[in-house]
Amino acid sequence: MSQNPRIAILGAGPAGSALAALLARQGIQSLVYDDEKRPAMLVGESLIPAIVAILQRMGIEDKVAAIAQFKPGASFIHHCGTQMHFDFRSVTGRLPPYAYNVPRPAFDDVIKDHAKSLGVRFVKHRAGLVAHPGGTPELELDTESLAAGGYESGAKPDLIIDCSGRTRTSARLLGIGADTGPRRDTAHFAHFTGIDHPYVAGQIVITYHPWGWSWRIPLPDCLSFGMVMNPKSLAEFGSNAEERLDKVLATDPTLSPLTANRQRVSDAYTYTNYQLISDRAHGPGWVSAGDAFGFVDPMLSPGVFLALDAAESLSAMFARHGEKLLDHPQQLLKELGSYEQRQRAWHEAWHELIEYFYDGRIVAFYERGMKLKSDYPGAFSNMMERISSRTLALMASGATTMSTFSRMYLKCCSKWLLTPGRAQVLALPKNI
Ligand SMILES: Cc1cc2nc3c(=O)[nH]c(=O)nc-3n(C[C@H](O)[C@H](O)[C@H](O)COP(=O)(O)OP(=O)(O)OC[C@H]3O[C@@H](n4cnc5c(N)ncnc54)[C@H](O)[C@@H]3O)c2cc1C
Repeated sequence: MSQNPRIAILGAGPAGSALAALLARQGIQSLVYDDEKRPAMLVGESLIPAIVAILQRMGIEDKVAAIAQFKPGASFIHHCGTQMHFDFRSVTGRLPPYAYNVPRPAFDDVIKDHAKSLGVRFVKHRAGLVAHPGGTPELELDTESLAAGGYESGAKPDLIIDCSGRTRTSARLLGIGADTGPRRDTAHFAHFTGIDHPYVAGQIVITYHPWGWSWRIPLPDCLSFGMVMNPKSLAEFGSNAEERLDKVLATDPTLSPLTANRQRVSDAYTYTNYQLISDRAHGPGWVSAGDAFGFVDPMLSPGVFLALDAAESLSAMFARHGEKLLDHPQQLLKELGSYEQRQRAWHEAWHELIEYFYDGRIVAFYERGMKLKSDYPGAFSNMMERISSRTLALMASGATTMSTFSRMYLKCCSKWLLTPGRAQVLALPKNI
């Protein structure tokens, strides 16, 4: 093996490690820099069925299953009383009819160990970059990083793939802006034991509250609870993450009946300003993937999927052209442009779908369907219910999120079927 891999990857999260493993499988060497500054717990614990398909293609589903909680579906509970339960079996034929909930550090280790088993070299070092705005290349590793990676005598990687997560190392250095979207929520989360879970084992539960929404993600030996709150409401629940989590669990009318025996078994963590998409995600000699490219919103758990899909896309680019693509900078730039376009289309589609869950249209659509079914029972309303549930499940599973037909179906149903004004009543609170 050559001492100087031509591809350097920044970050050993799901995007970076998966990409390194996929490249190694093609015989393309890369070097992964990781600062190993990972907190003890990470968000990104709820996976969707489209990820299972990727894990199967990578040949590591059994290793993930061994550390994971099987996830049969997702439930959405609105504080007004409406409950929607999705079963992933409805995506049978398109995707694996299940997913997993994972303790993230263990999940990341599975992918990293897999990459190591394929010969990928990881360097413990926080990679630094040097920018040459408008130049070719536009970004290079700094001297310390080259030395830490074993690059000698002026050798340098030809492509830097930024998988550094929300640090957005390349975009920040180049002063590339980002579309931060309309929401400014704050998320607090921690792990708990002793919270009752009166649902099918492993089912994740999203609850709509008057102040925002919360997640319950069953893990093998605890429950991950997170609250996503409008900044307006934060102060009402205490002055820090621990107080707020405790107050919500103790007093919220939907949650408190289940939490009398709760015990927090981890520190409490906070995430803010996490919804953004970079204005540009590639340039001469570099490209970004995963959260370094952008992140939509945690409501439907698309983050790890987008990270792994980006890894697959970049790996597929090299599968089409081979490592010699690096010898043709113009062609490489064109390919990276197509990759960026596709990732943008994914982000846009997820953003669009998630908006239906924030602005009340999905819950109003569901209520309307149930009413039609009780007013006009029979084969037609049963068929409509089956089609609607499957369409939504396929979109939220990652199978048809980008499909024009599915998007039109949702658009038309929510335009023509909803009771006027009902979605606004059911919507999550907006920012001030
Ligand atoms: C509140 C919240 C809830 C979420 N819930 C879910 C969920 O349930 N399901 C889901 O799929 N997604 C969820 N996500 C999103 C998910 O966490 C991310 O999309 C996912 O972790 C992205 O993976 P990544 O590999 O791109 O980046 P990361 O996982 O962030 O990995 C980046 C790595 O790079 C390292 N690094 C950074 N800078 C450098 C550097 N200069 N040199 C070397 N190493 C560096 C970091 O230490 C880290 O190890 C959630 C996000 C938020 C904010």
